[in-house]
Amino acid sequence: VDANTNGGTNGEASHGSTKKIGLNEFLQIVERAFRPSSSRKRLVELSEGMRKQFWESMEDNPLCMLPSYNHQLPMGDERGTFLALDVGGSTFRVALIELSGRGAETGQEARILKRATFKINNGVKQLKGVLFFDWMAERIEETLLGQSEGHDMSEAPLSMGLAWSFPIEQTSLRSGLLQGMGKGFLAAHGLLGQDLGDLIQASCSRRGLNVHLNAIVNDSSATLLSKAYADPTTRFALILGTGVNAAIHLPVHIFAPPKFGVRPDEWHRCAKHVIVNTELSMFGTGILPSTIWDDALRAAHSKPTFQPLEHFVSGGYLGEIVRLVLIDGIQTAGLFGGVIPPSLVQPYSLETETISYMESDHTPDLFKATEIFASRHLSSLGPPPCPADILAIRTIASHVSVRAASLVAAGVHALWSLRNEAENISPASSSHTLVAYNGSVLENYPGFKTHCQTFLDGLVEASGGSKGVVELVFAEESSLLGAAVAGAVAALGS
Ligand code: BGC
Ligand code: MG
Repeated sequence: VDANTNGGTNGEASHGSTKKIGLNEFLQIVERAFRPSSSRKRLVELSEGMRKQFWESMEDNPLCMLPSYNHQLPMGDERGTFLALDVGGSTFRVALIELSGRGAETGQEARILKRATFKINNGVKQLKGVLFFDWMAERIEETLLGQSEGHDMSEAPLSMGLAWSFPIEQTSLRSGLLQGMGKGFLAAHGLLGQDLGDLIQASCSRRGLNVHLNAIVNDSSATLLSKAYADPTTRFALILGTGVNAAIHLPVHIFAPPKFGVRPDEWHRCAKHVIVNTELSMFGTGILPSTIWDDALRAAHSKPTFQPLEHFVSGGYLGEIVRLVLIDGIQTAGLFGGVIPPSLVQPYSLETETISYMESDHTPDLFKATEIFASRHLSSLGPPPCPADILAIRTIASHVSVRAASLVAAGVHALWSLRNEAENISPASSSHTLVAYNGSVLENYPGFKTHCQTFLDGLVEASGGSKGVVELVFAEESSLLGAAVAGAVAALGS
């Protein structure tokens, strides 16, 4: 039985046979479906395919390879105090940040003076249009009032920088046109094409907040900026949390002019390079290694073709892929005594965080994995999971997560190759480059980052580069810090 597909839309989450099979046989089918995707040969092909798609979308695709307005990496001497905002997939964060410059006497180029985190629950995600921005303004007010000792609001307006974890078509450093949002958000509803900066500023003004939004950046660009502020060799950034994305520093000349919209001559005179929000999540159509379970995920998705890569790799989906495989194993190979636990019936009910905890358990009796699973999914209705069930979940999770790490590595390698081509650098002479990374999956999922680096090393070597030349480096609090750095760069430039 073969569970690989060509990514068709066959939505049946069953391995094609109603015949009951043994657990070992089932797990072998799963392994055969997922494992080959991580072979060196397949990844090289995938990287080449993605690189082609990057080039194509630099011509005329309005949704990805989006040049920001940032045509300069930070010099490292930008200073000041900024209010940084970070709208992510599950939290809204507000922080007051002091930038002291590279090599600051304190030994800290950036310091978070205060911060607040607000959960974005489903109710907030479903706030439509202006209501969402009003919600943001209320949270900003709450943060500033609650911590009034930090900044005298009666004086000049406080400068704000925003990291936005969604696509945006930038029209200046401080403004951009709202585009369709993934991750279940409805804020763009009725506001598509409107200016995000104006919307936020208007909501803040209605609450009488003395703030001025002077920079907007996608969270991937924020991550690049935050690391480049401290380390000038940074040329890439990678985000892998609820969603996936990458930013890259590229020469301007490789883009077709329509990509830049109407930018002032001044900008074109100065801009030799530009930070590009790739919207990596949107690549991979037709070339990703789909299994019947991936097909099933897409078949049930409200935007099945919007972010193909994201559906294979991000925290928003890993748990769901595992759940779909597991349900199949329950129905055909007798896992959980053939009874689907009620708590696993709903789509997305198995969280990526849960499988991440389960994968972190390396004890022979899988005590911790059992405990975590039971605390979230055990019901008095079904039989308790037996050790074989828990082991099966861990095995399935590891196939799914290792494949994800390999696909992300292929994406990063494709970007590295793209930049080499664009800058006329041969892979063999390519110098050490940092990929600043951030996001819950890369930071917390056991082994993920290490796998990703290993796959990346293999790909770099396969294209003639030396091992370790492209290095994934953690960028702490990159969205908030990058928003502040963007604010500082904008303030200096104006
Ligand atoms: C969004 C990107 C974002 C990424 C990581 C994706 O779903 O489209 O804009 O950078 O998630 O947060
Ligand atoms: Mg984030």
